[in-house]
Amino acid sequence: MIRTSLDRVARDVVACARCPRLRTHCAEVARVRKPAFREWTYWGRPVPGFGDPRARLLIVGLAPAAHGANRTGRMFTGDSSGDWLYDALHRFGFANQAQSTALDDGLRLTECWITAAARCAPPDNKPTPVELSRCREYLEREVAALREVRVVLALGAIAHAAWLAASEWKERLPPRQRPKFGHGAERTLPDGVTLISSYHPSRQNTNTGRLTRTMWHSVFRRARVVVDQDSR
Ligand code: SF4
Repeated sequence: MIRTSLDRVARDVVACARCPRLRTHCAEVARVRKPAFREWTYWGRPVPGFGDPRARLLIVGLAPAAHGANRTGRMFTGDSSGDWLYDALHRFGFANQAQSTALDDGLRLTECWITAAARCAPPDNKPTPVELSRCREYLEREVAALREVRVVLALGAIAHAAWLAASEWKERLPPRQRPKFGHGAERTLPDGVTLISSYHPSRQNTNTGRLTRTMWHSVFRRARVVVDQDSR
């Protein structure tokens, strides 16, 4: 049942054409390609979420990277943000391997689902508010299907806002009581789901030292503790 709902969301995502600007951009990136990936046939379509349907940890990113998920067809796969993400997921027991390079690389997630605020790679990594609102339905449907989620890890302020909107906490809580974004910020909501936020592991953040490995691992360590506490 969970699997059917999630499969349906994935199918709708892959076929989606609601944002002409993003669809044109993804197709053009897939046509031109990067010299380093000339051998690849790019995915070039919207990228669905993936992972363990019985996930207790939900990770929300911003959007596929032009030459990462837009090339490989899987979230955070084939780029440096993914190197950071899967290394941490493996270290803290949510993935069977630290590498994520292609759809057939053998990666499996345990108790974890990965999704994003927008499913198409945007120019300059910046989806517009209208594009984000068009894409929200897919996140809402995933949130509704993934009923065992106890921890949400939002990577960046846009992902944080997208999850609050998709989970309806934005609507249900008065503005002052809404969780604020900040690296390591944590709030357990009235339904028992804990929202943890983190800086996104983009090159802009990791190359400048805004996000260090220590800071990054600390949010996953905390997520692991909360997931385990709640499963006793
Ligand atoms: S960003 Fe989302 S809503 Fe827009 S075309 Fe891609 S999948 Fe569809």
